[in-house]
Amino acid sequence: MEFDIAKAEKDIAAIKAKIDAEKNRLDAMTPEQVEAEMLHTVTCHVNHTDGCGWYYETWKCERGQWSEHADFLRRLRKIKAALPEGMTLQEAVKIYKTVGGR
Ligand SMILES: [Zn+2]
Repeated sequence: MEFDIAKAEKDIAAIKAKIDAEKNRLDAMTPEQVEAEMLHTVTCHVNHTDGCGWYYETWKCERGQWSEHADFLRRLRKIKAALPEGMTLQEAVKIYKTVGGR
């Protein structure tokens, strides 16, 4: 089997484009929005067709009463307020994933 360098370079360029797009998306978010998104990713296990509107919303929807983005920001703030002194959000999420997460 011959190695196709042109195809490999094309694949690498496609991966780099995806990484750059994700970096740009995250750079456009506030640190709190990034944490809320991580919290949603780790803890939301409901049906995303009709159980959770996360993927149908944008951060512009975060002020809405029924906004999942607003709800996860509220949850994030409650969790961070309840964290034991010295424990980071990432450490708490790691514990959650160990004992109850998927
Ligand atoms: Zn969800």
